[in-house]
Amino acid sequence: MTAAEARVQTDKTEDVHRIYGIERWGRGLVTVLDGGDIGLVDPLGRAPAPVSLPVIVRALAERGIQTPVLLRVAPFLDHGIRLVNEGFRTAIAETGYQGVYRGVFPIKVNQQAQVVRRIVEYGRPYGFGLEAGSKPELVVALSRPLPADALVICNGVKDEEFVRLAILSRRLGFNTVIVIESLKEVDTIIRVSKALGLEPLLGVRIKLTNTIGGAWAASSGDRSTFGLNAEQLVAAIDRLRDAGLLHCLKLQHSHLGSQIPDVNDVRRAVTEACRYFTELSREGVELSHLDLGGGLGIDYTGEMRATESSVNYTVAEYCASVVETVRYALDEAGLPHPTLVTESGRAVVALSALLVFDVLEATLYDIETAPEPEPGDHHLVHDLAAVRGYMVPNRLQECINDATYYRNELRAIFRRGVVDLREVARGERIYLRLMSEIRRMASDDVTPEMEAQLYRIADIYHGNFSLFQSLPDMWAIDQLHPIVPIQRLNEAPDRRAILSDITCDSDGKIDRFVLADGLARALPVHDIREGEPYHIGVFFIGAYQETLGDLHNLFGDTNVATISLREDGGFDLLEEVEGDTVAEVLSYVEYNPRECLDDFRRIVDAAISQGRLDAVGGRTILAAYRESLNGYTYYE
Ligand SMILES: *Cc1c(COP(=O)(O)O)cnc(C)c1O
Repeated sequence: MTAAEARVQTDKTEDVHRIYGIERWGRGLVTVLDGGDIGLVDPLGRAPAPVSLPVIVRALAERGIQTPVLLRVAPFLDHGIRLVNEGFRTAIAETGYQGVYRGVFPIKVNQQAQVVRRIVEYGRPYGFGLEAGSKPELVVALSRPLPADALVICNGVKDEEFVRLAILSRRLGFNTVIVIESLKEVDTIIRVSKALGLEPLLGVRIKLTNTIGGAWAASSGDRSTFGLNAEQLVAAIDRLRDAGLLHCLKLQHSHLGSQIPDVNDVRRAVTEACRYFTELSREGVELSHLDLGGGLGIDYTGEMRATESSVNYTVAEYCASVVETVRYALDEAGLPHPTLVTESGRAVVALSALLVFDVLEATLYDIETAPEPEPGDHHLVHDLAAVRGYMVPNRLQECINDATYYRNELRAIFRRGVVDLREVARGERIYLRLMSEIRRMASDDVTPEMEAQLYRIADIYHGNFSLFQSLPDMWAIDQLHPIVPIQRLNEAPDRRAILSDITCDSDGKIDRFVLADGLARALPVHDIREGEPYHIGVFFIGAYQETLGDLHNLFGDTNVATISLREDGGFDLLEEVEGDTVAEVLSYVEYNPRECLDDFRRIVDAAISQGRLDAVGGRTILAAYRESLNGYTYYE
């Protein structure tokens, strides 16, 4: 039990919600309303008051959009785009930088049509463009109504088809930059360009030797898999010069990896990038754009620390560091200031989406009542009950040790047939009550040893969601996202729970939580009340999660609703996308739902003709099957 968890039991006051650290990670977008509901705040100030998230969830349910639901908050997306663009504008103005900023959104980070459409719309005043890392993403980018000054940057592995489309698109007015990632690509570009009789707009990706910390450390440095090293860079320039295309090379690109924890890693990398920029300029390359890639991180935990799920800087500080570093380096080299480009994906979209799911059921380990041992019970059951007799604050560790020993011995003799099922059940329950009482008695000074043992009596709250579908990074790379019950935050959350999902995979659980005092292994939650929904929100999941998610157990896409916040405290439903039906999910794995139904019908018919079922019974079964095919994949 951490200090934060301990406080859950002692702090019954009105500021219960502070346990969750919402002020810290909510960064003004998420707050708690007087009634204990989570409120969403319009960062653009159009809605004067926060809007209750439970009210939104109820209203959506009335419109048939049930949980689990992925909620996209349009003003949060607008806010993300402004943060980055205004951040650079301000930094440029304040440092007297002579160039401009032209950001691009990497489609990879959230390819959903509704999201990309809004990014283009909200980014228009800033000339915000798109980055494509593959042919399908280029096809998306070229179908968007981009402003004339926006860039389309092509990264990734490119074949002739990719290069041809990129070059041809320039005839339509797109500023499509082909970023050279390998020497082989140089040859492809020269060949396609000559064949078309058209000049490309080129960039070159440089492999920096500086490395970053955090989860993506391996994607930086000289062992990273992308870009040209110094020697390859020289070869690429020579080949372009020989082909008469060197003047087409306008942009220098580097990308360090995602979620850079430490702003000083950014400075060092930018300095190195500027060295290349200077050298390339001296080689006669007419570079006009310096692209520093993505990596601007999100402080998921709100700790402002250089750790994997936090960062030690703000967006404004990142922008200022980049602009200042480039300015110094280029002034020193006596070069004009280039147009600055970044490819921030996470920082633009992560804040814009949250998942809300309902808790279906709770398995309680933390209990208040237990039976007394019966006279004939084995002495181990009596020993367990006796621990209560010396349960005082300074002997709690001893009590845990004893109780755990007796409980384990009891299990061992049960396996050997010494005690019966009812006896062992009594013992288990007495043990759980003891541990629960110890947890309540323990206050702030909980040792790590005790914390680990008390964690074993955290309840399991079963949520109606799939970790693999909706929160893949929490599973795959231990990414942290803020998680909080969205209602009753004016009541002390007396229980602690881990969250398990609806898949049949024991990995489908969440047992790391961001609380005010740091990381905890269990989430403070409330008792679930009969007939009253209990919803949990997972915040800031707009980046990377949606298409990385998979169909584990064939749980499909959740319902999606895009909302904006209204002046009168309500919300507008801008768009909704129904989640996958069972039939849809089956077709993704190459079943034909029509054929499934036909095959099932044959089984029903056979049962009828064998006299095992009458016609009415057959119709009922068929109707149930059909209903399941058309239903939501989640618990309804
Ligand atoms: C993934 C990627 C990005 C986006 O990185 P973020 O950390 O989300 O900002 C930018 N550029 C390239 C080349 C990428 O591969």
